[in-house]
Amino acid sequence: MNSDTINHMAAAIRAAILAHEADIESLDREIGDGDHYINMKRGCEAIATISAELAPLSAADALNKIGMKLLSTIGGASGPLFASFFMSMGKILKTTETATIQDIALAFESGVQAIMQRGKAQAGEKTMLDVLIPVADTFKQLAGQDKPAKEIATILKTVASEGLESTRNLLATKGRASGLGERAIGHLDAGAKSCEVMIHAVCDQILA
Ligand code: ADP
Ligand code: MG
Ligand code: MG
Repeated sequence: MNSDTINHMAAAIRAAILAHEADIESLDREIGDGDHYINMKRGCEAIATISAELAPLSAADALNKIGMKLLSTIGGASGPLFASFFMSMGKILKTTETATIQDIALAFESGVQAIMQRGKAQAGEKTMLDVLIPVADTFKQLAGQDKPAKEIATILKTVASEGLESTRNLLATKGRASGLGERAIGHLDAGAKSCEVMIHAVCDQILA
């Protein structure tokens, strides 16, 4: 993985988020404050504007810079959470010159753990973590078994979709929806949706 790959993945993520405007926007309107799509779009555009600055950097430094950029551009609850994810991923990758798929899986896991720490949240609270935690666990397991990248990508897409669907019948105990009680049941979480969209976008690039 190098900064070219990162810029390529960032462009794929941006296109996928823009293509899912309607779903992401309506989910946060149903049980949040309706700004999640705007926040995601702002973050994606900010990364696109620094692609030339990212190009000469190592993967680790590019991820760290992405995190810092997101911290200063996306508002809301999700901004600092995504920022922690990328900064933590960058920190872990720093220790490996050429990252293997196992290194990337471990870095992804540490990014997810950083979100858990920052948001003081666990699985089952109807947040983005209900997608990210099972994806991180499965990714680590499959990378550890030396599965081919395309096989891993196919499985992770399914795990992400199942994680998203799992948020439907959960009560929200973190974030804005936590004040809604039973009213949140039956709705998917917006942050879980955007994570599913992003994971699908990255996996689709690996499968292409
Ligand atoms: P805000 O809620 O401030 O308007 P966004 O709409 O951008 O921010 O993001 C909302 C999403 O952030 C939620 O759908 C949820 O997935 C995620 N989220 C909120 N609080 C937490 C938390 N403490 N831990 C993990 N994810 C969270
Ligand atoms: Mg919101
Ligand atoms: Mg908001």
